Amino acid sequence: MSDKQVESLQLKINNLENVLSHVGAYVFTKDLQGRYTYVNQKVLDAFGRRYEDVIGKDDSQFFDMELSDQLYQNDQKVMRENITVENEEFNVIKASGEHRIYHTVKNPLHDDQGKVIGLCGISSDITEQKKLQDVNKEQQQLLDTVLNNVGAYIYMKDTERRFRYVNKHVTELFGLPVSQIIGCLDTDVLPQEVADHFWDSDKKVFESNASQETEEEFADKDGNMRHYLSVKIPYQFSRDSKVLIGFSTDVTELYALKERYQQQANTDALTGLFNRRYFFENADREFKRTQRHSLSLAAISIDIDNFKQINDKYGHPIGDQVLLAVVKNIIPNVRLEDVLARIGGEEFSVLLPETTPDKAQLVAERIRAYQDANEFVAENGIHIAVKLSVGVSALRAADESFLDLYSRSDKALYQAKYQGKNTVYYLP
Ligand code: GH3
Ligand code: MG
Ligand code: MG
Repeated sequence: MSDKQVESLQLKINNLENVLSHVGAYVFTKDLQGRYTYVNQKVLDAFGRRYEDVIGKDDSQFFDMELSDQLYQNDQKVMRENITVENEEFNVIKASGEHRIYHTVKNPLHDDQGKVIGLCGISSDITEQKKLQDVNKEQQQLLDTVLNNVGAYIYMKDTERRFRYVNKHVTELFGLPVSQIIGCLDTDVLPQEVADHFWDSDKKVFESNASQETEEEFADKDGNMRHYLSVKIPYQFSRDSKVLIGFSTDVTELYALKERYQQQANTDALTGLFNRRYFFENADREFKRTQRHSLSLAAISIDIDNFKQINDKYGHPIGDQVLLAVVKNIIPNVRLEDVLARIGGEEFSVLLPETTPDKAQLVAERIRAYQDANEFVAENGIHIAVKLSVGVSALRAADESFLDLYSRSDKALYQAKYQGKNTVYYLP
C-alpha cells in the first residue's frame, strides 16, 4: 500500500469515526470472547471511561454480574448461531447507577472467508420513550375508567359512518363486543333504518361543524323503546380525520314524565276530557286546516240545565256524578274525529271537523235526546232528570278565527235556554 493509499484510508476511517461518535446511538464491536474492539464516544460517555480503558474489556467491567452474564449469553447466541438478535435491555450503568432501557440490535461480524469473528451492536436509549408510553397507558386507563363509569353513552364516529370509539355502555346497548363495533359501519352494527336515523343528525354535525343537540329513540335489547338526549360535537381527530363525539343520556323516565305533564296540562281532572286550553289550541289548528282545504266545520256548545239546583238539592258530590254521567251520555253520540272538551263548570263543547250544518244539528239533537231519555240514577238510588241545552253553529266564509264560530254556538246556546231549555238551537 502506498503512503497515499494509507493516507486516504486513514481519512476514511477518521470520517467514519467522526460519524459514529455523533450518531445518536451506542455503537460497539466485540470479539468472540465478548471483549470490546470498538466503542463510539456515546458508549465512553455512558461508561465514564476513556477509549483505552474500554477496549479489550468485557461487560463485567461495566455492568453488574447478572446483567453482564445475560449480555454475554446474548452475544454468544449472535456469534454461535450467526444470527441477528434484537431485544430490549434493561441496564444499570455501574458508573452512575442509572437505570436505562435500550433497544439493541446485534449482528455477527465476519472475516473474508465468512467466518464469524465478533459482533457489532447498535443500542438506542428508549428510556424516555418508554416512560412516555407508560404515562400514555396510564392516561388511557384513567380515561377508560372515567368514560365507562359516567352514566352516558359515549361514542366517536367518522365521516364515513364508522365507529372509532365506544364506551362500555354502548357495547351493552348494542349487545356486541368492542371489537365488533370499532372500525365498523353504523349499518353493520344497527338495523339500516335506525342507523340512517342516527346519521341524519350526525351529518348535521359534519355539515355545520358545530355541536348539535337532538332527541333520539332506540329500542333496548328487550325491545323497549327508549329516549335519548344526544349532544354531538365535531372533533378534529387527526390532521385529516374528522369525527364527532356523541354523548347520549337516557331520558326515557324524564320523557314519560314530560308526556304525563303534557297530558295533564291538556286534560280536565274530573271528567278526563280535554280541557278548555287544549280545546281552543286544537280548534285554532283545525280552523286553519279547514280554511286551507275549503272544508266545512261546525261547533256545538252544551250546558246542563238548572245544574245549580241539582247541586243545591243533592250536594256537590252528586253534582260531580251528574257531570260524569252526562259525559258518558255525550261520548257515544260524537264521532272519533270530533273533539269533546269540558269548557267550564257544567259546560261542554264539541268541535266537528268536516261536518255540514245539517249533520251538526243532527249530532246536537242526538246528544240532547239521549240525555233526555236517560235519567241519572245516583248510587243511593235517587233518580234525577238531567237535561241539556245545546247550541250549534257552522263555519261562515267571513269567519276570521275559530272564536267567531265559537261565539255563535255560545249565542245559540243562550237562545236554547231562552226558548225554555232542553232544546237545540242552530245559529247559521
Ligand atoms: P242554566 O240552566 O241557566 O244553565 O242554570 P244553571 O244552574 O245550570 O247555571 P249556573 O251557571 O247558574 O250554575 C252552574 C253551577 O255549576 C254553579 C256551580 O257551582 C256548578 N259547578 C261548576 N263546576 C262544578 C263542578 O265541578 N262540580 C259541581 N258539582 N258543580 C259545579
Ligand atoms: Mg247550566
Ligand atoms: Mg253554565
